Amino acid sequence: MIYWDHNATTPCAPEVVKVMQPFLSEEFGNPASSHLAGRKAARALSTARSQVASLAKCRPGEIVFTAGATESNNLVFLGLLLSDRSDKRRVVTTAIEHKSVIDPAAFLSEKGFDVVYLPVTREGVVDLAAARELISPDTALVSVQAANNEIGTLQPIEEIARMAHKEGAFFHTDAVQVLGKIPVDLEAWGCDFASFSAHKLYGPKGVGALFVSGGPRRWPWPHPFRGGGQEGGLRPGTSNVPAIVGFGEACRLAEEKLPGEMSRVYQLRSAFEEKILAQIPNCVVHAQKAPRLPGTISVAFKGVPADMLIDNLVEVCVGKGSACTTGAIGASHVLISIGCETNVADATIRLSLGRDSTNEQIDETMDKILTSVSFIRDKLEGW
Ligand code: PMP
Repeated sequence: MIYWDHNATTPCAPEVVKVMQPFLSEEFGNPASSHLAGRKAARALSTARSQVASLAKCRPGEIVFTAGATESNNLVFLGLLLSDRSDKRRVVTTAIEHKSVIDPAAFLSEKGFDVVYLPVTREGVVDLAAARELISPDTALVSVQAANNEIGTLQPIEEIARMAHKEGAFFHTDAVQVLGKIPVDLEAWGCDFASFSAHKLYGPKGVGALFVSGGPRRWPWPHPFRGGGQEGGLRPGTSNVPAIVGFGEACRLAEEKLPGEMSRVYQLRSAFEEKILAQIPNCVVHAQKAPRLPGTISVAFKGVPADMLIDNLVEVCVGKGSACTTGAIGASHVLISIGCETNVADATIRLSLGRDSTNEQIDETMDKILTSVSFIRDKLEGW
């Protein structure tokens, strides 16, 4: 199998599996217990918190462990929903967010908030002039992703955070796709909240974090969840110690590997993209000129439905749109937002590179894509 879907998920690194293992057996303590077994677990949580904070450039006390980024994103939106500050009712987000932001934002809209979606350019970058206009004094929250999961575009987070703060709004970023891939600096970016997920950086699934500037005590709204004091009361419930320990190790590893991997993956991506554009007629790489994640390629082979191509590639795993929206009806909202025709959006696949990607895999995949694309085009009328 050749795997080109690292934006959907990554395998757990062997180092991560190794550090998790004792916490699934002999180190089973509950970190809330004050005896020795509990204290050992609490120490492990504390180490993991420092490891995540070190990679994200914030203080350990500002990291709240959650069950993943969907939960982190929901916490922010539900917190605002529960607030009683009726003077600020506007929420500003973008048209290309992940569903775990789009849907909670739509829920706020149903509940009477004035939710506005910033448009993006054809290259998939937030239109800053529109942001300047739409972030108004009655804005409570601005939520803009750091990088897009489908097309990989990076957003001018620092600038938008400044605009939000100028109007007295909080700034949240869904930073899932950047952690471990490019340097993250929450302090420099000026975020109030940021969401992360371990399984995108070779950690386990079902664990993530919400960065809260100043720590959970500075959380400005009522707590959406109740029932325990864990994670400053923001995410009550017995901590998932093995997963959190794995997340910490994944961050430690990512910090060690980041500079080398970032340029290695970028070079591989560039070579892959050049080969695709040179060898396959009638294809288009989305957001090609925009600042992008080093390892993401979103490419449409015109006249080749992505579903058919994915079926044909068999042992080569490539993504279609966003993995989390698979099964949903309709073309990718991200591709439509950057002005793609529906038929081009439907012919788009996503190739996302990772730590295990190699030049040999690129050559093997190119052969398979070439064969499959011409087979499908021959089969379908009009090509
Ligand atoms: N935001 C983005 C940009 C994502 O790519 C994903 C994962 N597809 C999520 C949020 C959701 O993360 P999780 O799987 O941890 O809930």
